[in-house]
Amino acid sequence: MTIDEIVVASNNLNKIKEIKKIIGDEINLFSLRSIGFNQEIEENGSTFYENALIKAKTVANFIDKPVLADDSGLVVPYLNGDPGVCSARFASLHATDKENNDKLLSLLGNTDDRNAKFVCELVLLFPNGKILHATGEVSGYILRSPKGNFGFGYDPLFYSYELKKTFAEVTDEEKNLVSHRARAVKSLLSKIKKLNDL
Ligand code: IMP
Repeated sequence: MTIDEIVVASNNLNKIKEIKKIIGDEINLFSLRSIGFNQEIEENGSTFYENALIKAKTVANFIDKPVLADDSGLVVPYLNGDPGVCSARFASLHATDKENNDKLLSLLGNTDDRNAKFVCELVLLFPNGKILHATGEVSGYILRSPKGNFGFGYDPLFYSYELKKTFAEVTDEEKNLVSHRARAVKSLLSKIKKLNDL
């Protein structure tokens, strides 16, 4: 079985570029826009995996190609796993990154229990219903105030144990050495390669 085309269930060109860098040139990636998909997808799952699967299934109903969907977010054990699947809309439905970061800081207060991880779940759904699934994680802790100007989301508060900096203080290339998304894509790629060898 050879996989040479994948639709990525996203219009975020940075995300697609990041995936492309790891997956390489042998597999052609398509964005949702490039296949003419413009429906809203309601991500109402209670886990990252459920949300990724909802996205993959919705797009797979539209096109007869393998579909790759991801869902990711920040998990803070002190907050019982929040922001979790609500990472993008933690403070409110259309919250800005700053509003989400401010809410996170206010809920953590003065606690020293500031461990956190980013998690990324990937689902690759084939037209015959077969699913490949991969997870990536990166651990760190939440600073008491933001640091750095790069990145997005919770990057300025997330201090990576491996990089010894926040994700907002490093370049995309450095972040991709350890990031949850890069790790999930690498893990998925090794599963795709096994299938391609069959
Ligand atoms: P998505 O599933 O990749 O769209 O991520 C959902 C939300 O999780 C984003 O809107 C961010 O708030 C947060 N998030 C996911 N990945 C990252 C990251 O690498 N850095 C900072 N925030 C992230």
